[in-house]
Amino acid sequence: MLKRTVSIVGAACGRGARNEGCEAGPEVLRRSPLSTRLWQGGLDPIWDATIRPDATTDDTAAVLGLCARLARRVRSITERGAFPLVVGGDHSCAIGTWSGVAAAVRARGPLGLIWIDAHMDAHTPVTSPSGALHGMPLACLLGHGEPSLVALMDGQTLAPGHVCLVGVRSFEPDEAELLSRLGVRVFSMDEVDQRGLDAVMSEAHAIATRETAGFGVTIDLDVIDPAEAPGVGSPVPWGLESAALASALATMSGDPRLIAAEIAEYNPRIDNEVQTAGLVAQLATALLGADEMREDRRGVAELEWHYGAHNYDPLPVTLVRGEGVYVWDEDGRRLLDMMSAYSAVSHGHCHPRLTRVLAQQAGTLNVTSRAYRNDRLPLLFERLCEVTGQEAVLPANTGLEAVEVAIKAARKWGAKVKGVPQDQVEIIACEGNFHGRSIAILAMSSEAQYRDGFGPFPPGFVRIPFADAQALERAITPRTVAFLVEPIQGEGGIIVPPSGYLARCAEICRRHDVLFICDEVQTGLGRTGRMLACEHEQVKPDGLILGKALGGGLLPVSAFLARRDVMDVFRPGDHGSTFAGNALAAAIALAAIDVLLEERLPEHAAELGDYFIRQLRAIPSPLVREVRGKGLLIGVELKPEAVGARLVCEKLLERGVLTKDTHHTVVRFAPPLIITRAQIDEALAIIREVLLEAGGALRSAA
Ligand code: PMP
Repeated sequence: MLKRTVSIVGAACGRGARNEGCEAGPEVLRRSPLSTRLWQGGLDPIWDATIRPDATTDDTAAVLGLCARLARRVRSITERGAFPLVVGGDHSCAIGTWSGVAAAVRARGPLGLIWIDAHMDAHTPVTSPSGALHGMPLACLLGHGEPSLVALMDGQTLAPGHVCLVGVRSFEPDEAELLSRLGVRVFSMDEVDQRGLDAVMSEAHAIATRETAGFGVTIDLDVIDPAEAPGVGSPVPWGLESAALASALATMSGDPRLIAAEIAEYNPRIDNEVQTAGLVAQLATALLGADEMREDRRGVAELEWHYGAHNYDPLPVTLVRGEGVYVWDEDGRRLLDMMSAYSAVSHGHCHPRLTRVLAQQAGTLNVTSRAYRNDRLPLLFERLCEVTGQEAVLPANTGLEAVEVAIKAARKWGAKVKGVPQDQVEIIACEGNFHGRSIAILAMSSEAQYRDGFGPFPPGFVRIPFADAQALERAITPRTVAFLVEPIQGEGGIIVPPSGYLARCAEICRRHDVLFICDEVQTGLGRTGRMLACEHEQVKPDGLILGKALGGGLLPVSAFLARRDVMDVFRPGDHGSTFAGNALAAAIALAAIDVLLEERLPEHAAELGDYFIRQLRAIPSPLVREVRGKGLLIGVELKPEAVGARLVCEKLLERGVLTKDTHHTVVRFAPPLIITRAQIDEALAIIREVLLEAGGALRSAA
């Protein structure tokens, strides 16, 4: 099988047809299993772009503009050796696709083209009864018809001897006359019926490859019988069977001369039970030779169980791909990610700018260790200080490592600056905290399971109730060097302290010369509606811990930030990590912060978080005890006697929403911050259904 890199381009073209709905086809296909199927078949698909027409101009100008942009895109994809797969709205987009491919290969020879269609698409504005442009693209590509569209071919129209049509059964005499005059071979549906599709396709393949630089295939979905493919622009009774077409296409899949493909006229508005969208994936995988299943997806759950440590109990789903707020499972099912990897994927999956930076930097400089300087890390330091108001940074990889650094900084500061004897320093933490799972951090944990079997733990930690400033005042002794706190307890169950709590704690710490250190690994970087959750109370901590979203959802990147005098307790050799601060991680983190700022993700989280919480609170479910949170960090706490949060998460998963329980009774919602209101509504409809249904189960059980 040829391992092609497939760049999918959606041509949201609806202006060439007189039936509404086609323009939405590409975006619906983007959400369909199309890319996942290609991926599972061993290819490398990416959704390259969706190209839309200009809304304000007349139809011809709109199609012209779209085709010109499409041609440029397809040309550049072809020139860099990737395979353009255009999924079109109406078939007028073919002018853009094939003029682009032809331009890319021009220096090597003419382009062959197999046009699979119920119609001939060979009208000109003079002969067309309807005047609709989707009946004209083949004529244009051959140099006939609307001059502005023909001009896209830049004087190099397709050579008729290398072009052929397959499956034609609806046309006007003028079209047949034009094609026959030019010498284009037309395999009508009658001929297909008489000779069989495989024989016809093999002859078509020969026409398209003889003395050409390569060939393409364009499929108008109306070539398939409408009984099988209802969702097409202009259905014509009778037609090919999809399975037969798929198997005929598969015979060409291994031919390296196949350089581009297009599938057009999909109209989701009339696609009963998304039958036709499934056909698009079927035809594309057949043509690209991707219908064999990837070896590595077989039985991965069993492999994980057999060879992996059992330190996680994942929900029953295997994810294979992600894009924005969506992920896809191995059956091609799309799921709305309302968990975003515990807030690590705030930018959404595979954010295009971040993946671009990743690729560029990966090819430039990655890991050098900090035995030397790299040119990215200092820029990250500066940016981090600018956005947090801190004065110095110590980079790390995961959240817990940065917490360890904070503990070390506090202890050494306590011993060397505050003057507490080293073996007596104390750090205060809160009941219900989560700062990670290293041995030192577990010494602070109040969670019995996290600690069970892992002792002994280092001394020097004290715990007080969360959200109780007076408890802090009481717990401070002359030996106290720091108070470590999450502004909102995340893993502890999305516990939001009363407003004013952080400001009061900061003030108490200042009075007692105790470092006030905030663990914003989860709450930081826009999650709660501000860049830092501390900002809700205008608090600037003495030490700050960031992680998760700092890696843009791509890499583990974390940092401890602090006042200069605190950070200055570290001397060369006091702390280090081979990977921390590497150029790749720094480049990603820098871009991740830029994206947060430029896309105004904190503001977005504030606005949509308010909306989401209000809507969740309005669900009249007898299961729910409380809905709480800030920004897009939200917990729905179920009543203790209700069904468990895990069951609710499983029900949500069944219906396409990914989330995760925490502490058995809390369902957490922390979607990527790029989520839209419409996507929140999509989730809400399902959450409502599940909470109300599960509420019924609770009542009947009671
Ligand atoms: N601190 C907080 C507040 C966290 O929520 C987490 C992870 N959930 C961590 C620290 C630990 O981060 P990591 O898993 O990257 O070590």
